[in-house]
Amino acid sequence: MLYENLLRKPNISQSLVKELRHEVCPRRIYGVYGLGLPTTPNDSQLRGIYFEYKLTGSCGKSGEPPQEPLQKNGKRYVDFERLDQQAVFFRDELFPHYGIEILGTDVVVSTGFNHPDTGENIAVKCRLDVLGRVNGRLAVIDIKATADLANGGWRNPLGLDHTQAYFYMWALYQSESLNPEGIMPDFYYVVADWSPRMDYEVIKVEWNNGSFWDVRQAATEAHERMKQMAAEEYPTRPSYQQCQGCPFADTCPDRRQFKEVRVVW
Ligand code: SF4
Repeated sequence: MLYENLLRKPNISQSLVKELRHEVCPRRIYGVYGLGLPTTPNDSQLRGIYFEYKLTGSCGKSGEPPQEPLQKNGKRYVDFERLDQQAVFFRDELFPHYGIEILGTDVVVSTGFNHPDTGENIAVKCRLDVLGRVNGRLAVIDIKATADLANGGWRNPLGLDHTQAYFYMWALYQSESLNPEGIMPDFYYVVADWSPRMDYEVIKVEWNNGSFWDVRQAATEAHERMKQMAAEEYPTRPSYQQCQGCPFADTCPDRRQFKEVRVVW
């Protein structure tokens, strides 16, 4: 009952929608989205957080500057040195070239809509990396870093997940305080890679007539699924990947952990 009471009406976010689609452990979802507990970022996520901090100064959800890991000999990893260079390039050259202007970072937008069948309110919350303007137009700018753009899905439009873009555009469209003129904002991904190529992409995701229905359907499904999981009191679904970084990783009896390397002489 405890879990059900806490999460009867959760905020639906694009990251929650994605985690539900990927069937992330319900207990972990309860910890992160119900209790607001922090996760431990994996190596790739840490580089993304670091790049965003270097580029915009945003500390994100944690409110703390990310800690750069060092090698055992105290030297810096080359990935982080490259991300430093990319941040300077983005700020001094790329943003001015594409007309990208930062108005605010780590901007939270709360909105919602009525459930199509029951009429109950479905609350939607989005945390924008950057609220800005691109060539004078209101825009959401999402900052990403990746190991190598040449090998990732960033150059394949079919592989691009539009959920985040549609959620953010719609939420900002609804926000009277941030968007008093009520225009549909633009959405851009700006992506840096930390491979020796030091490449980048600027990708604009277009809104279309079906986008709102995509948001509404995704949020409604997530709302229903959260209610179902609450009724089941958030069972565990352990996996090596998800248990790493889970807020309950130290105490959960069902956790899966990789063994330490056995050193032999
Ligand atoms: S440690 Fe694993 S099984 Fe336990 S709550 Fe976290 S993700 Fe689920």
